[in-house]
Amino acid sequence: MDEEHLRRAIALAGEARSSGNPPFGSLLVGPDGSVLAEDRNSSVSDGDITAHPELKLARWAGRELDADTAARTTMYTSCEPCGMCAGAIARSGLGRVVFALSSGQLDGLRTSGGGFPAVPTDGPHLYDEAKVPIEGYYDV
Ligand SMILES: [Zn+2]
Repeated sequence: MDEEHLRRAIALAGEARSSGNPPFGSLLVGPDGSVLAEDRNSSVSDGDITAHPELKLARWAGRELDADTAARTTMYTSCEPCGMCAGAIARSGLGRVVFALSSGQLDGLRTSGGGFPAVPTDGPHLYDEAKVPIEGYYDV
């Protein structure tokens, strides 16, 4: 754990807030300790509900890093990644995430609630039809 990198993530969160966006920031630190990329939440200015810094950096890592480098790269982030970002981080192949605030600590700082209600889901259905495009895909 490197407090300098976490402090940079917190500074990026402040920059996000100053630009009218939710206050979250993140960076990627490569195997040699250098900062590879950093980003801020831009969900308001971009009009994009997915514009979390962790998701943007996970996408960057998946696009720009080979698997070995990604596995030895650490994401430092101002807050524990949300479920959406955690899913993208898992797919990115990044090796580790270090966060400042936990999700519970963030909830404790919210005075007007926050979070999002779960969307009801309905399934499974049509197994015999839905399996057709999947069968064999993962066997190679
Ligand atoms: Zn997120």
